[in-house]
Formats: sequence, structure tokens, C-alpha cells
Amino acid sequence: NVRVRFAPSPTGMLHLGGLRTALFNFLFAKSHNGKFVLRLEDTDRDRIVPGAGEKIEIMLQWAGLPPDESPTLDGPYGPYKQSLRYDLYHKNVEKLLHSGHCYHCFCTERRLNLLRKDAASRGEVPRYDNKCRHLTQSEVDEKLSQNIPFVIRFKYEPLESAWEDMVYGTMHEGAVGESLEGDFIVIKSDGYPTYHFANVVDDHYMKISHVLRGEEWSISTPKHIQLYKAFGWNSPQYAHLPLILNSDGTKLSKRQGDINVESMKDNHYDPNAILNYLTTINKGFIEDTAGMTVTDMIKVFSLQTVNTHSSRLQPQKLLQLNKIHLRRRFNSDQRIDVIHEVKDLLVQHFADRVQNSHVLEDTYIEKVLCWGMETRLYVVTDILSEPLQFIWLVPNRDNVQTVISKVNNFKEILQKTVDKLNLMTHFDESSIKEVLACYCEENKIKKKEYMGLLRNCLSELKQGPAVSEMMEILGREETLNRLNNALT
Ligand code: GLU
Repeated sequence: NVRVRFAPSPTGMLHLGGLRTALFNFLFAKSHNGKFVLRLEDTDRDRIVPGAGEKIEIMLQWAGLPPDESPTLDGPYGPYKQSLRYDLYHKNVEKLLHSGHCYHCFCTERRLNLLRKDAASRGEVPRYDNKCRHLTQSEVDEKLSQNIPFVIRFKYEPLESAWEDMVYGTMHEGAVGESLEGDFIVIKSDGYPTYHFANVVDDHYMKISHVLRGEEWSISTPKHIQLYKAFGWNSPQYAHLPLILNSDGTKLSKRQGDINVESMKDNHYDPNAILNYLTTINKGFIEDTAGMTVTDMIKVFSLQTVNTHSSRLQPQKLLQLNKIHLRRRFNSDQRIDVIHEVKDLLVQHFADRVQNSHVLEDTYIEKVLCWGMETRLYVVTDILSEPLQFIWLVPNRDNVQTVISKVNNFKEILQKTVDKLNLMTHFDESSIKEVLACYCEENKIKKKEYMGLLRNCLSELKQGPAVSEMMEILGREETLNRLNNALT
């Protein structure tokens, strides 16, 4: 039975790195008819950000990766928040104290600091010297009875055997970076377990079969395997996923806005595009996933093809993928939803400036989207961008006149153009283009200057969509209104 988990610490927002881990776990579970579990690892009480755990679950739902078991859904192996499993860790650490795999350590912070300083002065990695390993039971009992603060440590011996990583292949302790820190802590002085201990206990009790997590956790694997051995439990199978870096090669950070999943949601990205984007980074798919929904991605997922080297995000790629999904939705039964999403945006941003209420009608928005889908729109919010504002907002007459009055004979030129446009039978882009080109020819006016003049009357823009495109979108009536307006 495949059971996997996504186990973030609720110390900040969900970012693309975390979402990639969740995605691979989700796809692995679903492609094996298994379960996808969300567990919050909140034992580092100082670093917890209130509400972050709930947010992560909401974001997974939004992204289309709903867990089967989670803090809010609960499930057969709950609770799914480590802070609520306190007793379980204590019950289990007792076992290891009993079997002699763990011991109480009463070393003071001062002593540990001296050890650290000493190591640093020799240019070495700080290492606990395992002093308290050698306390006798009566010494321990005595200190406990005096209420001396303590931690519980695990007697760590380097792992001699190799293990199989489903992505990185045969691994051994030297390959992931030897653990030089001495016996590591499993229960901290505040009574909470450390990551290593809680993670292993929970994976066991939650019957996790496979651990898919970021490569940065590889170094912890030997510790975890030793803990499983000490308990006499089978360890899950491991698959580490290569590091994702920013496009400039730096590490992803939880405070970075552009990789924050929630801000991508607020910026109207399609969750499927974000997931496709994550699949372009380290492979892991037998086909290009561009345009696929989560359901499609399950079918082409393959852990065997995941790269083992880190790779960089390419923000441009995300826009291209989003465009594909925007088109996909628009050309499906979700068309009306897209139209309404745009309408909401327009109302929200331009409501008090819209003069022609017809621009907020579904049919008009639909017409604009049909045009924009092919070229200009990557994200729905592009509809609000400066070069497209003319579609919704009438240009300011004074501004327009200040600019166009610099053109010789501008009134005559505009008047003649209005007359020509009035005579047209079909007011579509290619006919308009022809008429305008013809006008330049007949009147010996430079095309660039002419188009600049018209563009200004229509939009106040210096650059932007072709004038003939603008006119078609605005329609004859509005085009003529704007030209006439500039004339008077
Ligand atoms: N709590 C760890 C994290 O924040 C989980 C690592 C693991 O999956 O073992 O990513």
C-alpha cells in the first residue's frame, strides 16, 4: 500500500519548492492508487508562524493536490500535527532509553558553547563529545531528582550499510555528507522532539511507505535509518528530489514573493500552469506536460526519469504555460468563468473610470478575449495592462489634443479618415488596414506619422496593438467617437 506524505514545517508560506515536493508526492500516490498525507511538523515552537499550516492546506487544495488525510480532514492515523502527538514521542523515546539507544544529557549550554568554540578554533565542525553517554544510571537518577534540565540524545554510530534512493541510486553515508556532530538530540529541553525523531516516529505510525522529499534532507537519511534500526522498524523507501534554484542560481527562500504560491494565486495564475512549470524543472515525466491538468499528469508521471542535478526556475516558461491554460479554459466549458473573472477584474480596477458601460458586457469581453488569447494574454490580469487599457477606458481628450495638435493638418486628416471609415461595408481588421494604407498613399502622408496620430486619438498610446486591430476591437461606433472627439 503506497502511502506518502508532505511534511512541511508551518514556518512560512508555501513556495514553489514545497509545492514541487507536494506535487511529486501527490502524483506518486495517485499513480499507485495510494494515499497522500499532509502532516504539519510544528515542533520547532519558536519558528512557527500562526496560520501558516492552515494556509498550506488551503493552497494545496487550490493547486489541485488535495490530501487524503490532513490536520483538518483527519484520518485513521491522526492527529496530523506533531504538536498534538507529544505523548507518542515520549512513549517511544522511553523504548529507546530502555534499550540503551538513547540517554539523558545534562550538558549545559555553556559547555556546549565551549565545545563549539573549541572546534571552531581548530577549523572543525562542532561536535558533541558524547560525554553524557557514560553517566551511570544512578548519576542520571540523581540529576533527574534535582530537576537539572536535560535533553535526550541518540547514540549515533555511522551507518555502514548502503541504502537505495529511488532517484539517486545506491547511497552511503559518505555520499550525503558524514554526520560529524556526535550523538544527536531527539528530545529537546522543552520536551518537544526534534525533527529527526518526530519524523521517524510519525512516518512509522502513519504507515508511510515512501519518503519523497527535497535533496537537502538527504544528509538526514542515515540518522533516520539508524533510528528505524534502533526501534526494530522497517524504514520507508527514499526518493530525494533535486534542488530547485532561482533563475540566478540562488536558493529559494520562504520570504521570496515571486515564488510564493499564494501570491501567484492572487495574481490569477492557473494552478495547472504552475504544476506544469514545476515539472519542467527536473523531469520526472515521460511526456512534456505543457497544457496538462493534474489528472493528465498522473498518467505520465515517472520517478525513474527525475534528474539528479539541481536546476533553475525559468519564469518566462511559467508565462507561456499559463497562456496555454488560459486558452484551454477559454475554449472549454469554462469560457463563461473566464469572462466573469475578467469582468470582476475590470470592475475592481476600472469601475469608476469606465464611461461606456457596454465594455463590461459579456459579449464585448468575449470578443476582446477571442482576440487577445492568441497573442497578448498570458495571465488574465494582462487585460488590465497599459497597452490594453484603451479597450475599457476612453482616452483623455486634453492629453490627446496636446499631442496631436503638433501634427500639421491633423483636423483635415482625421476628418477624411472618419469619412472613409464611415463608408466601409465590413469593419474588420484587414479591411481597415487596407483603407488606412490607401489613405496614406493617396494623401502622400508618412504611414508612421499617420498611424501615430490615429493611435493617439484612440488610446493615448505611443506604441501598442496595430491601429487596425484597435479599431476592430473598439468597433466602428467607438472608433468614430474617439476620432471625432479629438477633432472638436
Ligand atoms: N519538516 C521537513 C520540512 O520542512 C520535512 C522533511 C521531510 O520530508 O522529511 O521540509
